[in-house]
Amino acid sequence: MRDRYCGTLKKEEIGKRVNLSGWVFRRRDHGGLIFIDLRDVTGIVQIVFSPEISKEAHEIAGELRHEYVISVSGKVDKRPEGTENLNIPTGEIEVLVDAVEILNTCKPLPFQLEDEEPSESLRLKYRYLDMRRLDVKKVFMERSRAYKVVRDYFNDHNFYEFETPFFTKSTPEGARDFIVPSRLSTGMFYALPQSPQLFKQILMIAGFDRYFQIVRCFRDEDLRADRQPEFTQIDVEMSFVDVDDVLSISEGLIGELFEAITGHKLVLPLQRMTYREAMELYGTDKPDLRFDMAMYNLTDIFKGTEFGVFKKTVDEGGEIKALLLTDRTLTRKDLDTSVEVAKEMGASGLVWMRVEEEGFQSPVAKYLKDEEKERIKNLLKCKNGDVVFIMADRKNRVNEIMGKFRLYLGEKYELIDKKRFQFLWVVDFPLLEYSEEERRYVARHHPFTSPKGKIKGLADRIESKDIDPESIIARAYDLVLNGVEIGGGSIRIHRADDQMEMFRILNIKEEEAREKFGFLLEALEMGAPPHGGIAFGFDRILMMLLGLDSIRDVIPFPKTQKGTCLLTGAPSKVPQKQLNELKIRVLGETPR
Ligand code: ASP
Repeated sequence: MRDRYCGTLKKEEIGKRVNLSGWVFRRRDHGGLIFIDLRDVTGIVQIVFSPEISKEAHEIAGELRHEYVISVSGKVDKRPEGTENLNIPTGEIEVLVDAVEILNTCKPLPFQLEDEEPSESLRLKYRYLDMRRLDVKKVFMERSRAYKVVRDYFNDHNFYEFETPFFTKSTPEGARDFIVPSRLSTGMFYALPQSPQLFKQILMIAGFDRYFQIVRCFRDEDLRADRQPEFTQIDVEMSFVDVDDVLSISEGLIGELFEAITGHKLVLPLQRMTYREAMELYGTDKPDLRFDMAMYNLTDIFKGTEFGVFKKTVDEGGEIKALLLTDRTLTRKDLDTSVEVAKEMGASGLVWMRVEEEGFQSPVAKYLKDEEKERIKNLLKCKNGDVVFIMADRKNRVNEIMGKFRLYLGEKYELIDKKRFQFLWVVDFPLLEYSEEERRYVARHHPFTSPKGKIKGLADRIESKDIDPESIIARAYDLVLNGVEIGGGSIRIHRADDQMEMFRILNIKEEEAREKFGFLLEALEMGAPPHGGIAFGFDRILMMLLGLDSIRDVIPFPKTQKGTCLLTGAPSKVPQKQLNELKIRVLGETPR
């Protein structure tokens, strides 16, 4: 149906006969002449119908409407002087058509493909029309290229690609499972994998040494702009490795992806920071380092304070933290607003102090001692016009809220260089974290992550209070980009006795552990090599490197915030017969 593509037709082909097929994108009827921008996967080219070239073709052209599918033959010609369009690659040429065939018609469109930004629900319902738009199409072409970059990289580094089952048993990644009822074993359910975690470990035990997979994972969580119930991970596992080996292989991959998509070289190695440092300085385990502004700890300075709120915090073992905003002019109203914002974030209060010639200007200035003010000035190295924000609370709370408040200041006062890509490894995560909901310690990463140092005896030491559970450090790491977690992994526990010890630490009974993970425990007993790995959020990485705001923009057929597919109408009811076969009775329905 064609021997050339529209968007790549070259002016070197002027004078040649060509056959093209595609969609009618734009159409201009200039009385005698009809101009059409014909579009295919590569772009557009102008085609011209003139009664002088072919009366018949010109007549058919009169019937063409937006998005009709046509096939044409004609001669490539130079566009007349002054009518070139240098904004598109084919802008200097046109095709004079002498034969046309209509391959399909098109109903009036629910939205125009250009000059109109349809609502997201229209875009998702008519995803095929949305994707006809070249900028949308380009995203998925980039995505396709990215798959190749990933596969090439891992092939070059002796990794083997695998597919692991979707119908499986629960893998504990901290979310709710999607489950699938079994017809052959009624009353039984498969869980869709939250990740291939256990399979990749089993492949290491099988001796494959290096594994990767570009794999769909399923997590039944509340959705946000950067979350989907099914999403794609680049999943990796390696044998006989330590943290540095995994990070270095990962950096190589990220570097290649980064260069392929942005066209820029990534400077390696990437910055690293411990979890503790991240929390202390930025109040979060995923700091956005596109702008500096670390927190200062003023607790020491206020050891002898008489200022009520600060005194209370110091007495109760809390912390007093400060942020310094420099080179910005803030009005009194700005300062009042910042107090409001901090309160909305959950702060019990926020103190501001403006540095002026005469000293600090602040509603609380009179309660602070000269010595305290002097020490703050020295520690923060502040100059006239700077504003110091101070918060006092329990350690975790003040860190968390100050961390959020820092991001607010970054946005509001345009401190963030939006063009920058700032990667960061956060390492040395705590192994455990207390779950208020389950009233026990849970694995912060997952229960297969190994601690630094010996695991043997830890359960007893925790029980006898010989060690603070929160002080145990995991061999776990996250990769952060611009304040967003884009990957994470760990060195695993590779001995069955250690894994049992970990279950004991997590208060998981032996019986339950055997029930859920017996196959893993057994495999660990049969010569499991030391191993570790990582998984990256492929969609998130693409979204960020392409400068898009929503993960839905990089997923061909995404779900809405409510987990529905507007194109197909999923999820939907199933016929009673199917439910009967599964011996399932529906007890309720979410009203739509
Ligand atoms: N399975 C983990 C996750 O999905 C990643 C890993 O530990 O390799 O987050």
